[in-house]
Amino acid sequence: MEMLEDTMNKMKEKLFIPASYQIVFTSSATECWEIIAQSLTLGQSYHYFNGAFGEKWCEYAHRIHGKSIAQPFPLEDQPLMVSVNHHSDDLLCFTHTETSNGAVIADETLSSARQNFKGLIAVDATSSMAGTDLPWKDADVWYASVQKCFGLPSGLGVMILSPAAVDRAYAIKENKHYNSLAFVIDNFRKFQTPYTPNILGIYLMNRLMGSVDPIDKISLHLKNRYLRLLKFIEEFGVSPLIKNPKSRSSTVMAIQDAKDQVSAIKRFASTKGIVLGNGYGPWKESTFRIANFPAIPDTEFDELEDCLREFWRKR
Ligand SMILES: *Cc1c(COP(=O)(O)O)cnc(C)c1O
Repeated sequence: MEMLEDTMNKMKEKLFIPASYQIVFTSSATECWEIIAQSLTLGQSYHYFNGAFGEKWCEYAHRIHGKSIAQPFPLEDQPLMVSVNHHSDDLLCFTHTETSNGAVIADETLSSARQNFKGLIAVDATSSMAGTDLPWKDADVWYASVQKCFGLPSGLGVMILSPAAVDRAYAIKENKHYNSLAFVIDNFRKFQTPYTPNILGIYLMNRLMGSVDPIDKISLHLKNRYLRLLKFIEEFGVSPLIKNPKSRSSTVMAIQDAKDQVSAIKRFASTKGIVLGNGYGPWKESTFRIANFPAIPDTEFDELEDCLREFWRKR
């Protein structure tokens, strides 16, 4: 219990999470999809997505309550909410960084959703939490798995709830599951857990949060590293999948090229001991993905640039 309390305090301090928000641990982001569907959905849940993870969230929620409404939007754009009449018991769902293609939901988009909508806003921040200074107050439910931007072993999820989300969980008081949210919150408020938790994962989170820089500093460092990589690839005439800077994540970058070039560069990189991340879904063969996560040292980005330079010099 002491370790749990200390870990939650350190997370709030380093990630600039508002004091009034409640942290709970789960086992994964996928579990958070189900918890939100089971315990926080009263009206419809509107899912704004342009990639595989946002779409999966919509499907998982639909299987549970049948009230999901897919709101796909184009890759280059930010979601437009003007056409939909949302009610205050609805839920708006966004994928902050879409890991499959490197798209991001801009801070302005979340703040305008916040201003124009009275219900709850939920955000999958799996590929950005701990790497980006998130606008916590502009959403009610933030969650992530820790194996992406936190750089920790998989098997732990983090869910961060606004006072309104906590109120909604108690108002609905769904209690059919081991992970029913009101029951989970009851436990975490006492620094207990509803089931034997991933104690090793929580311990590692504690050590990580004790040693990392505050998130504003980390976020700035990653943004600069992303801009440097962007400038580097553009010098070789290569561009990111997403052309609109406003819609591009600084923590996941999908780089686009001709299919034969993408497979050749992956082969070349592997001879240098570098595994380039595959593209995902429709962009599987035409992109490769770079994780600009805090756990990856700058020296590995130098090595990556050396490798890309050697390959692209011949173009
Ligand atoms: C990886 C990922 C998930 C799923 O994470 P699990 O730990 O497998 O549950 C969900 N959403 C996003 C955006 C992801 O990148």
